[in-house]
Parts: sequence; C-alpha cells; structure tokens
Amino acid sequence: MYHRKDTVPVKVGNLTIGGSDEVIIQSMCTTKTADVQATVAEIHRLEQAGCQIVRVTVNNEEAAEAIKEIKKQISIPLVADIHFDYKLALKAIENGIDKVRINPGNIGRKEKVEAVVKACKEKGIPIRIGVNAGSLEKHLLDKYGYPTPEAMVESALFHIGILEELDFHDIIVSLKASDVPMAIQAYSKAAELIKYPLHLGITEAGTLFSGTVKSAAGLGALLSMGIGSTVRVSLSADPVEEVKVARELLKTFHLISNAATLISCPTCGRLDIDLFSVANEVEEYLQNVKVPIKVSVLGCAVNGPGEAREADIGIAGARGEGLLFRYGEMIRKVPEAELVSELKKEIDHIVTEYERT
Ligand code: SF4
Repeated sequence: MYHRKDTVPVKVGNLTIGGSDEVIIQSMCTTKTADVQATVAEIHRLEQAGCQIVRVTVNNEEAAEAIKEIKKQISIPLVADIHFDYKLALKAIENGIDKVRINPGNIGRKEKVEAVVKACKEKGIPIRIGVNAGSLEKHLLDKYGYPTPEAMVESALFHIGILEELDFHDIIVSLKASDVPMAIQAYSKAAELIKYPLHLGITEAGTLFSGTVKSAAGLGALLSMGIGSTVRVSLSADPVEEVKVARELLKTFHLISNAATLISCPTCGRLDIDLFSVANEVEEYLQNVKVPIKVSVLGCAVNGPGEAREADIGIAGARGEGLLFRYGEMIRKVPEAELVSELKKEIDHIVTEYERT
C-alpha cells in the first residue's frame, strides 16, 4: 500500500500534496465564482479558519474570467472545479489557477485533452481526477451494474491512464461516495494501486451534525491507515464548519501541528460549575490558537488533577470556583465568574512561551 508518505509529491501553488505525512485541508466556496467580492470574502474567512487550499466552481465564462481578480486578492492556492468543458479549463489556467479538477476521460476528443494537459504542463499545474460513485462512466456501469469500489478504482485508473499516456504525472485522485463503507473500500483499494496522492472526501455527507459524524467515520478510518494527503469535508453548512471539522479530525490523528486541543469532561452528578458554557467558550477561543497546546476543562477535582496533568493548562471545577492547573500543578483558585477569562489569559501566556521557543 502507498502510505501518504510514499505517494508522489505534487506541487499545488506554494504547497506540496503527497510525499510526506502532512495532510492538507481544503474546502470549496459556496458563492457564485463570478461574484469576486463575495468569493474573496468567503476565501478569507476559510483561510482564517485554517483552510489551506480552496476550490471554486468554474461553470461558465464569467467564473473563468473572475479567477484573475480572485487570485490577486488571496494567498492560498485556488482550484478550478470543471466538468467537461475544456475551454473553461484553458481559460482558468490562463488566468492563473493553481490546480484543475477535471476528469480527462470526460473532456471529449483527444485534441481537447491534449490542449488541457499541454497548458497544465507549461504552467506546472496539477490535475485532480475526481471519481464520484454517483457519476461513473457508462462503460463501468455496464460492466459492474451499479457503483462499486472496484468500479470507482477502475474509473480512476482509466483517467490516470489518459494523462500518463500524455506523459503527465502531476496527478491527485479522489474517489468520493456518500456511502461511507464504499468510500473506505474504494480509497483502500486505490491506495494499493495508485502512487499519486489521494484527496479524501465523503461526498454529500449531510448537515453539520450528521455530515460531521459520517466524515469522521470515513475519513478517520482512512487517515488512521495512512491513506490520504489532503481532505475536504463536505457539509450542507457554512464551509468554515468544514474546515473546523477537518482540523479536529487531523488533530485526532496527530496530523496537524498548528492546532490546540481541548479536553473536556461529559459532566456528571459531581459537577459544581456551568461546564458546558465554559467548554464551548474555551473551544471557540482555541479556534484561533495556532500552536499545539492541550487545554483541559473538567467538572470537578476528582479526575481533574490527573487529567490536567495531561494538559498544558486546565481547570477543574469546585463549588463556585475553579482550580487552575498548569503542567499538572495547581497554580491558583479562581472564582467561577472569572474562570474563562483567567483561563484565556493563561492560554495566551502559554502560546507566547511556545512561540518564543
Ligand atoms: Fe464527573 Fe468530575 Fe469526571 Fe466531570 S471530571 S465527569 S464532573 S467526575
């Protein structure tokens, strides 16, 4: 199996996907691409949340034109999502796109595919082949009867073959399905056969709640096996939520180095403080902390000190107050009303210390 570290490294703008243990976070804009102002505003919000590569739909001439202006106003690599129309791909490439998501087998005549590949080669732009269980080629549906993991991998190999025949190797591959077991099997089989980096996604996963659970189940299984060099969580929600979920997922597998982790207890009858609001507020605060510290928020001192030892900073609730722990040592007691603000101050101190070292 090609572990993500063993895949072919592919440059996307100033980033490299594959060839290392790093997993890059992506999302996709929900705006009309031709609306430059709205698209740039959304990209800035995504970038702030930790998105490293962003995709926009390029479904018409205006969208392809807008790329030029969008590129001037953002600093993360931009990907054009194109279906069938090679002229839009050429226009996007001409306008400075960093990567194209297009399936060469769906472009049409050979000359059209060659034109796109030539343009990508000239500018050093990679192509993502996006296999989707819901839109497999007719010859594969005829062969397999319905979408299967084998059919998805065969589809990927079919498109890869077209590019390799043209001596093009800057390839990234996704095999998305909304059915989690099917996606896991497709990606696992692909990792056996495909040396190019895999872009992971559970497509049309659902709303913030159900989509997060499905994505965590599917992507988590794959990431834990060493599969996947980039992820896009797909949610029927603000795309900023996709980035937040992706970051949380990568944290779970120690695949991200610029994110803080919150440890918080489920509470029980021993609870003496309003822990849920404290945990939520601290979690929100940690979204903007870009160093790998651990913060614990625990309801009481029974497990508190033990758990707090695992964290860089933490609190354990007591009656009307909280015990503040730093690297496992209790440093002071704080009244409940000041718990969050005191914890935030301590977090800031630790972040500053971390940044100094
Ligand atoms: Fe209950 Fe305390 Fe454990 Fe939280 S830390 S679940 S309040 S025993």
